[in-house]
Amino acid sequence: MSRPIQAHIDLSALQNNLRVARRTASSRIMAVIKANAYGHGLLRVAEALNEAEGFALLDVRDAIALREAGFRQTILLLEGFFDAEELPLLAEYELGSVIHSTRQLAMLDACPRRNSLEVWLKINTGMNRLGFAPEQVPAAMEKLRKHPAVRDITLMTHFSHADEPEGVAEQLELFKGLTAAYRLPRSLANSAALLRYPSTHSEWVRPGIMLYGASPFADASAQQLGLRPVMTLTSEIISVRELKAGDRVGYAGLFRADKTMRIGTVACGYADGYPRHAPTGTPIQVNGQRTRTLGRVSMDMLSVDLSEIPDADIGSPVTLWGTGLSVEEVAKSAGTISYELMCALTARVPVKY
Ligand SMILES: *Cc1c(COP(=O)(O)O)cnc(C)c1O
Repeated sequence: MSRPIQAHIDLSALQNNLRVARRTASSRIMAVIKANAYGHGLLRVAEALNEAEGFALLDVRDAIALREAGFRQTILLLEGFFDAEELPLLAEYELGSVIHSTRQLAMLDACPRRNSLEVWLKINTGMNRLGFAPEQVPAAMEKLRKHPAVRDITLMTHFSHADEPEGVAEQLELFKGLTAAYRLPRSLANSAALLRYPSTHSEWVRPGIMLYGASPFADASAQQLGLRPVMTLTSEIISVRELKAGDRVGYAGLFRADKTMRIGTVACGYADGYPRHAPTGTPIQVNGQRTRTLGRVSMDMLSVDLSEIPDADIGSPVTLWGTGLSVEEVAKSAGTISYELMCALTARVPVKY
């Protein structure tokens, strides 16, 4: 017997969610698989999403691993290259690169091959993270269009508010104005924009979170959007006890019983990726029944209220998030977002596909 925690990855749910993206946008789909496919496993996810026209990630070694595994799609490095020494690799493995800075533009001259590089010019339309300022775009375009190493150019931007009431209007208008003069493919939409703003779809969409079955919106559940959870994190109860009124639970005794109650200890803690900041009352499922966490999450364990689940005992199954309990709900209770919980799953958790 090993420690009972496990992450189950439902590859058919992943394919369902890709179909939702496909039905919603007629664009080519660049599946975002950065951060080890949001914690789900890079190569297994890429295999399941093989019908996507492209993959986007950050690490050139991951991109090469995809090529070596036989993927022929467009592969895009979302932060581009960091060093001129990477350019020969981009040419050799036919990897697309975001170019977001004049520093990268200057490094382009080190590219050894003519007509080899697929460039995604990133324009800053308000996110203020990466990208050329609007007034820098004409000069950057001039340089790219003349550059012998550049094979083709796609224009892209990223939205800061696509998941919020404020929406995309301002950034979309700015992007349209800046790019109207160029007859080139464009890419704007993350999951939220893909689902809510058809006017952003253009040639390429870049869904991430929706593929993994979580909603990007506070006001719409994954289920309402037709998305199915891909990752389900489960474990078991490994200890059960009775508390008297006044007894306290866990480090710093953060939870105090105000009456007699029955509690259980779950084999899952922050070293597995469960958020330490999840307070008492965070939803959790035992024996398929919803209950709450109690007190502080420890490194390897957390406590749950079993008062209303009398048949729960050592060995009872626990769902931390996933099918039956949305990751968004757990994230919200812990003051974070589903993205962070999925990415935070640690290497010691066995993954079953
Ligand atoms: C992460 C990322 C995405 C995907 O965003 P989701 O909200 O997960 O859909 C798209 N584009 C860029 C540039 C990103 O960094």
